[in-house]
Amino acid sequence: PLPVLAVVGRPNVGKSTLVNRIIGRREAVVEDKPGVTRDRVTYEAEWAGRRFKVVDTGGWEQDVLGIDASVAAQAEFAIDAADAVVFVVDATVGATDTDEAVVKLLRRAGKPVVLCANKVDGPSSEADAAMLWSLGLGEPHPVSALHGRGTGDMLDAVLEAL
Ligand code: GDP
Ligand code: MG
Repeated sequence: PLPVLAVVGRPNVGKSTLVNRIIGRREAVVEDKPGVTRDRVTYEAEWAGRRFKVVDTGGWEQDVLGIDASVAAQAEFAIDAADAVVFVVDATVGATDTDEAVVKLLRRAGKPVVLCANKVDGPSSEADAAMLWSLGLGEPHPVSALHGRGTGDMLDAVLEAL
C-alpha cells in the first residue's frame, strides 16, 4: 500500500489549495468560506518519482462541536491513519490557540510532521514564516499554495518524512 500523508490545520489556512498543488489538479474544494471540504478526501499524488496518498481534511468545520474541538477531532483521526503529516499554518495570521491545540495532538501522535507556513506569497512574508519556529515543530517551510512558491522544497521534506 502507498504511504499516507495527512494535511491538517485550521479552517481557511489553505489545506485544500495545498492538496490541489500536491496532486496537480483542481479537485480539492477551495472556498473563501471555511468548512467547504465535504469530507476527508484521499487523492493519489507523485513527487520525485514516489507515489503516495494525500488526505485533505476539513469536512466537519461547522458542526456542533465548535471550531476548536472539530479541528482537533479531524486532525486526530487523520493523523492516526497517516504515515506523516503536513501541518498547515497561515503565516500571515501566525500561530493561534487552535494551532497550539493541534501541535499537542501532533506531539502525542509522534508521527513525522512537516510544518507548512502557508500564504507566504512573496519574499516580504518570509519573516512571518520564521515566527513559526516558536511552535517547536522544527523548520517552518514557507509556501504559497496559491502560487506554487516553495511547494517543491516542502515536498522534498515530505518525502524524507514518509
Ligand atoms: P482550507 O479551509 O484550509 O482548506 O483552505 P482553502 O484551501 O479552502 O483556502 C482558503 C482561502 O485561502 C482561499 O481563499 C484560498 O484561495 C486562500 N489561500 C490558500 N492558499 C493561499 C496562499 O498561499 N496565499 C494566499 N494569499 N491565499 C491562499
Ligand atoms: Mg478545505
